[in-house]
Amino acid sequence: MTNQDLIKSHDEYVMGTYGRFPIAISHGKGAELYDFDGKTYVDFASGIGVNSIGYGNPEWIKAIADQAAKLGHVSNLYYTEPAAKVAEILCKQTGYSKVFFANSGAESNEGLIKLTRKYSNDKYGSGRSNIVTLEGSFHGRTVTTISATGQEVFHQHFFPFTEGFRFVKPGDLEALKASCADDTCAVMLELIQGEGGVLPLDKAFVGEVAAFCKEQDILLLIDEVQTGIGRTGSLFAFEQYGILPDAVSFAKGIAGGVPFGGFMVNEKCSGVLTPGTHATTYGGNPLGAAGASVVLDTLTDEMLAEVQAKGQYIQDRVKAMESPYVTEVRGLGLMIGILLEGVSHRELVGKLGEAGLLALVAGSATLRLLPPLTITYEEIDKGLAILQTALCN
Ligand SMILES: *Cc1c(COP(=O)(O)O)cnc(C)c1O
Repeated sequence: MTNQDLIKSHDEYVMGTYGRFPIAISHGKGAELYDFDGKTYVDFASGIGVNSIGYGNPEWIKAIADQAAKLGHVSNLYYTEPAAKVAEILCKQTGYSKVFFANSGAESNEGLIKLTRKYSNDKYGSGRSNIVTLEGSFHGRTVTTISATGQEVFHQHFFPFTEGFRFVKPGDLEALKASCADDTCAVMLELIQGEGGVLPLDKAFVGEVAAFCKEQDILLLIDEVQTGIGRTGSLFAFEQYGILPDAVSFAKGIAGGVPFGGFMVNEKCSGVLTPGTHATTYGGNPLGAAGASVVLDTLTDEMLAEVQAKGQYIQDRVKAMESPYVTEVRGLGLMIGILLEGVSHRELVGKLGEAGLLALVAGSATLRLLPPLTITYEEIDKGLAILQTALCN
């Protein structure tokens, strides 16, 4: 089978909801992928931050295969061992009290929204259900999470949207305070806006938002679906911002490629969601949890320090290319944005793919790099050579 054979049969039966590149991936090893024509790609995208420990990791394969042989799924009416283990690791490493497991980023954020509205309704009654999010944010593709997303392009086609979301400019503390009024139960933020353009929030702004929320008993919800699980060089990005949010969602990188996600809450929120108020059939399923255990075991302090060092190395190398198209390089750990001028980010990513490097776009003019956290310097150099050719010719 060739790429073209697969693309043809795929497109005949699968809905055309994605602007796909003409590349059909067959398998991967380390931080490299192989297509059906036998071509190799260095992967600076990792399935949009999902394949956090690369491809073909032997411990990950063994954990999932052994778990599949033992117990693939059982309903949440019963207890299972892998979910218990992942919840314990997450709570012990972060200081949070409880975890709820879901299957995707959007579903995890939906859970945060339900949690915060119920928290407020239980304590203060109705009329305090508003949630403030930021312009340029991205929180998912369900009707409620696109309503929470602060980008007008998402608020089309699917009317009516969920009510109760207000948007303010990142960094504008006064606008945020004014927007909260007395009808607000939560502020929800990405600490680095991923889809929006790899835009880190200002640390002082985040600290002041956290203090304001605490004072008003407005819950601070952090969407770490993209920034979490080692991506920025700490287990969660909030650690580097010096805050302890009330609740934090995670998904993408947690299970290394198996659908998995969820959110963690502090003591104050740990009893809000009771039997019958929130559930999901696959949540905490044993195969995903087995993958998540391996990912979390891989993210030692030493490994996280390496993520920071490799991210800095990539940023330094890209700056040193002195490309006429690059106006800014920014990010944290292995979440890197390269702001472009004079070249379309989409066209550039297409060209990089043809040359054997997979990368992503973000915002309207940013090239986004999210390599596997386990990528080697040798693989990084191979990818950077391809990037340099595209950016400097
Ligand atoms: C990707 C992403 C989501 C949505 O996750 P899905 O798994 O696609 O539902 C939500 N929030 C952020 C910050 C993301 O990057």
